[in-house]
Amino acid sequence: MEKVIHCRDVGFDCNGVIKAKNEKEALTLAAEHARKVHGVTEITPEIVDKIKAVMKEE
Ligand SMILES: [Zn+2]
Repeated sequence: MEKVIHCRDVGFDCNGVIKAKNEKEALTLAAEHARKVHGVTEITPEIVDKIKAVMKEE
């Protein structure tokens, strides 16, 4: 089962979808996406919590 994060669900106006094999990888990829695409330089615990909250399994 894959972990899937829809960027829009985190609160960005973005159609980006992040898919990963596990939660750790999903968080890493989401942080990378946020930094590259949205200019989020600091991934705060609040952002991590939000990403975990919207993370789904597919
Ligand atoms: Zn995005």
